[in-house]
Amino acid sequence: TGITELLLSRIRDVADYPEPGVVFKDITPLLADPAAFAALTDALAGVAAETGATKVVGLEARGFILGAPVALRAGLGFIPVRKAGKLPGATLGQAYDLEYGSAEIEVHAEDLDADDRVLVVDDVLATGGTAEASLQLIRRAGARVAGLAVLMELGFLGGRARLEPALAGAPLKAL
Ligand code: 5GP
Repeated sequence: TGITELLLSRIRDVADYPEPGVVFKDITPLLADPAAFAALTDALAGVAAETGATKVVGLEARGFILGAPVALRAGLGFIPVRKAGKLPGATLGQAYDLEYGSAEIEVHAEDLDADDRVLVVDDVLATGGTAEASLQLIRRAGARVAGLAVLMELGFLGGRARLEPALAGAPLKAL
């Protein structure tokens, strides 16, 4: 479709970043193009509406850039999920494994309610580790998961299969 071509044409492959052998999908050309950025925002806001989301969670850092305009466009509140140590208030944390070592993300749990249905937004789904931890965090905060929406899924890394238990039937939409 038109939008897929438009979005793909604005994603730049950067070889050997952040390490040799990795091809990084750079979304900054897309952000710099207002027509593409608007089309992406509208498409993700459409997913928010389809899934009946009541809040949008954005994953640090590119999930903030995409998630905030999506929340505004959909008329929903925005909740940042941040790397550990960045949120000032009482936080709930979720650790997850990286290729080497581990990481932790946090949320202000009091900003999520039991009747919330949360759409998680990020730019790229790779192994699924970050998204999986965010879905677990949202459920532990007492809210429900409306779905996960990303610009791009790197299918060869198997993130979709890994996320099946954490999604528990909620949709994963990759534009
Ligand atoms: P995962 O946890 O799925 O392995 O990695 C996903 C996270 O790393 C996302 O937050 C995403 O922003 C970032 N990421 C991993 N690979 C890429 C990539 O090629 N391009 C971009 N833009 N982000 C990536």
